[in-house]
Amino acid sequence: MKVYNTLSRKKEEFIPLQEGKVKMYVCGPTVYNYIHIGNARPYVTFDTVRRYLEYKGYEVTYVQNFTDVDDKIIKKANDEHTTMEAISERYIKECLIDADGLNVKRATYHPRVTQEMDHIIEMIDTLVKKGHAYEHEGTVYFDTKSFPEYGKLSKKNLDELIAGASDRVEIDDAKKNPTDFVLWKPYKPGEPKWASPWGEGRPGWHIECSVMAKQYLGDTIDIHAGGEDLIFPHHENEIAQSEAANGVPFARYWLHNGFITVNNEKMSKSAGNFFTVREIAAQFPYEVIRFFLLNGQYRSPINFSRELMESCQNGLERIKNCAKDLQYYIENAQGDTLAPGEDPAQIEAFRTQFETAMEDDFNTADAITAVYDLVKFINIHNKAGVTKAFAQKEMALLLTLTDVLGMVVLPKEEEGEDVEKIKALIEKRTQAKKAKDFATADAIREQLAEMGITIKDTRQGVQWFRSAK
Ligand code: AMP
Ligand code: ZN
Repeated sequence: MKVYNTLSRKKEEFIPLQEGKVKMYVCGPTVYNYIHIGNARPYVTFDTVRRYLEYKGYEVTYVQNFTDVDDKIIKKANDEHTTMEAISERYIKECLIDADGLNVKRATYHPRVTQEMDHIIEMIDTLVKKGHAYEHEGTVYFDTKSFPEYGKLSKKNLDELIAGASDRVEIDDAKKNPTDFVLWKPYKPGEPKWASPWGEGRPGWHIECSVMAKQYLGDTIDIHAGGEDLIFPHHENEIAQSEAANGVPFARYWLHNGFITVNNEKMSKSAGNFFTVREIAAQFPYEVIRFFLLNGQYRSPINFSRELMESCQNGLERIKNCAKDLQYYIENAQGDTLAPGEDPAQIEAFRTQFETAMEDDFNTADAITAVYDLVKFINIHNKAGVTKAFAQKEMALLLTLTDVLGMVVLPKEEEGEDVEKIKALIEKRTQAKKAKDFATADAIREQLAEMGITIKDTRQGVQWFRSAK
């Protein structure tokens, strides 16, 4: 399996530290608002990476934090005359509603900054004691010059960075180098605070991920992931903190997703060109949003548009119709053994096609093509007749591959008060047709259509569908 490692800027063979196990950390959201569809991309992308690793038999420990201490949360709390806790609690709940809707598996651990304060203080203390950090009037800075490899992820040269940063206006005189960043900041009125060896205050942003990764996964982890805007400075700073404190390499593979854009510009809260997942979910089912996010390779940008969403909805519908047909064949077709011309190798070829795509840096776009090709094969093959045995094999593969993508393509057993009525009408129509009473049969078809039900006569009997919205 090849993964593109931002650290080497190359596709590398994936070899986890410990055979059969993968330790994975994904930077989580700052919880002060609903997530937008750009934020949803790392969720869905790395959930799919996890699902593929699990499909391959790895035991994955997946950590995704919630940043619940931050300037923006504090500002929102002050604006709404409430507490930071109330704001973060509210948006963690909302975020999980969207994540569940997108069928993103819960992380093994979802740590929060407010719950890790002792460990945060401990790591900052270690950095100070090891000479990698210094304090000035209650602020603790990381000394980037003390870590010669600073810049190795973003491929920035420290001296050039320092020169560049010196040109900018707001230089903090207390810093030894303009690239030094804050690990701990002193208390200001109206802000939350914790006691520390450097006085009351709160942590800077970057330290939390170094601490939580160490706490839940250990000093060296396999995969660290997030959006590409996090490469610098956030991930660069995480590497500096973790490697300076722990004395060992931090993450073996760095994976970064590309942006969701609008009119080819990055979607972001600050630019105001964003759509929340919740807004889009009011117009399209969540599953279409997930499918949309997987329709591009994760490193390529995807331009958000209504047309693309609609085309994804149609594509997904095709796969779901195939699954529904298959279910019908399994319930109604004959043949517990394969018929001549039904060779399992015919469908296993699509598994190989799917795996080849995923083994090449999780190319979900090509993996979806493999699923479409499988669907096309199933539709053509089954039209000419299929045994129950072969239909079961087709279904098993279709469900396995779509599950790796986190798509649920088989509808739950139809429920609803109208199901009995629909079934009774279909039976009445079948009887009418047998009696050559076509006027009644047509009238029943009309009646069903008015109820939003489409029917299809097949060799095995009548199938029915609820019409798409
Ligand atoms: P934030 O809440 O801005 O810290 O972002 C949470 C996650 O979403 C990070 O991994 C970001 O890199 C990612 N992200 C933010 N905006 C976009 C976007 N437009 N496209 C893709 N990923 C994004
Ligand atoms: Zn992080």
